[in-house]
Amino acid sequence: VVSYLPGSAAAPTSTTAAEIRRVFERQRETAIRLRRSTAQERIAKIKRLCDAMMRYREQIHEAAYLDFKKPPAEVDLAEVLPVISEAKHAMRALKKWMKPQGVWPTSLTIGLKSWVQYEPKGRCLIISPWNYNVNLCFGPLVSCIAAGNTAILKPSEMTPHLSALMAKMIKELYAEDEVALFEGDVSVSTELLALPFDHIFFTGSPAVGKVVMAAAAKHLTSVTLELGGKSPTIIDETADLELAARTLMWGKYTNNGQTCIAPDYIYVHASKKDAFAKACIEVIESCYGKTAAEQMKSPYLARVVNQRHTQRINALLTDAKQRGARVLCGGETVEHECFIQPTLLDNIPSDAKIQSEEIFGPLLPIIPYSDLDQVIDAINAAPKPLALYIWSRHEPTIEKVLKSTSAGGTCINHCVVQYAHGNLPFGGVNNSGIGSAHGIYGFKAFSHERAVVRTRFMMARTLFPPYTDFKRKLLDL
Ligand code: NAD
Repeated sequence: VVSYLPGSAAAPTSTTAAEIRRVFERQRETAIRLRRSTAQERIAKIKRLCDAMMRYREQIHEAAYLDFKKPPAEVDLAEVLPVISEAKHAMRALKKWMKPQGVWPTSLTIGLKSWVQYEPKGRCLIISPWNYNVNLCFGPLVSCIAAGNTAILKPSEMTPHLSALMAKMIKELYAEDEVALFEGDVSVSTELLALPFDHIFFTGSPAVGKVVMAAAAKHLTSVTLELGGKSPTIIDETADLELAARTLMWGKYTNNGQTCIAPDYIYVHASKKDAFAKACIEVIESCYGKTAAEQMKSPYLARVVNQRHTQRINALLTDAKQRGARVLCGGETVEHECFIQPTLLDNIPSDAKIQSEEIFGPLLPIIPYSDLDQVIDAINAAPKPLALYIWSRHEPTIEKVLKSTSAGGTCINHCVVQYAHGNLPFGGVNNSGIGSAHGIYGFKAFSHERAVVRTRFMMARTLFPPYTDFKRKLLDL
């Protein structure tokens, strides 16, 4: 069994280590200079990236296909367009975001003018995971540039064609003292994490998130952690099953289940379980084919990223089956092809590993329930998820689930699209993440909110001794 944990740290080559330190040093002065950069200057830099996304679109398709046969339409939807959308949003709104925000005085500060001024944090590090390597590296880069920072990027090594292409793009678009990219594995990450960055924006697994946070703690560097975990879906007895099946199979099998906010497991009301499973199987068969051979040829189904992960997911499947789980459809693995069929499971015992580990692959447990309170208790007993999806047409049920659980984000009668909304914060809670990305939330993640107070008239003198009776009366609450 290959555990889904950080790889072992290998020593970085001395050239890479020296090179990283050299660039980090070069970014020091630039970061100070960029504090004074205007919205116009930042927008021009974002535009360069935005334009490059279209210029490189075909090459991104090719690289993603070479890495794990990712379908071009999915590349557009989940790699190219989100970066463009983030960039366009930032370019439109940046002047407004950068404006100092005046605040009202409170009782102790009457007479003082006060505002919040957004200043760049400085030198920032962005580390991305392999599953949406481009989007999850360049999306935060937009926010980082919008906030006026320098950036060092470290994309995942597990999709090497994409990573190499991203390195080429960044080299072409930016001087290294403003934005630089280092390719490599955990050894490069480790080298980078030893440096006193002003902010680290990490997207990846909770296990590595802890490594990042521990490294950041050494320098008291602030962090944004966009992590993963198990995202539950609840389908009650009033839900539109057809629509739920169609939408959830799309959310699950886009990127072949390798999406942080994909439905990880589904609670469905016991009275609807069979009908829902049947509807899901129909969707899977009509979208991707019936047999493993057909599905392997499907142009719409990405592969598992590598053999290590194929083994990991297959081990979850084998363990579940050995403990009594039933395969409702799929279930076949072709390891050397990094292929696992879209697989629905039920009858899953609570001690199966699939019940506690993030699946991050094409397996989908369906769990019948009859008491919603028990479902809520089970969700609350687990680490807080990145996403929780509710399918219901019964308002009190929707309200009840929303108010009695916690999650990074939620869709009601939809899934995954919360990611695409530029005016919503995207992030997790505790085990699924700390802080938020996207739009103004991304801008704020890379900014320091500086508190500024300015005296307008001499009310402030009341503070100074001697504390006469008159002054004491003024301060009398
Ligand atoms: P990962 O945590 O293994 O790797 C992420 C990045 O960290 C990579 O660049 C990798 O090289 C680096 N890394 C790996 N081990 C490291 C270590 N010990 N020290 C420092 N850096 C290290 O994650 P992954 O397998 O690339 O991606 C899958 C995970 O990411 C899943 O848990 C998924 O849910 C999560 N994810 C979260 C989001 C989100 O937005 N919240 C998005 C995508 C993926």
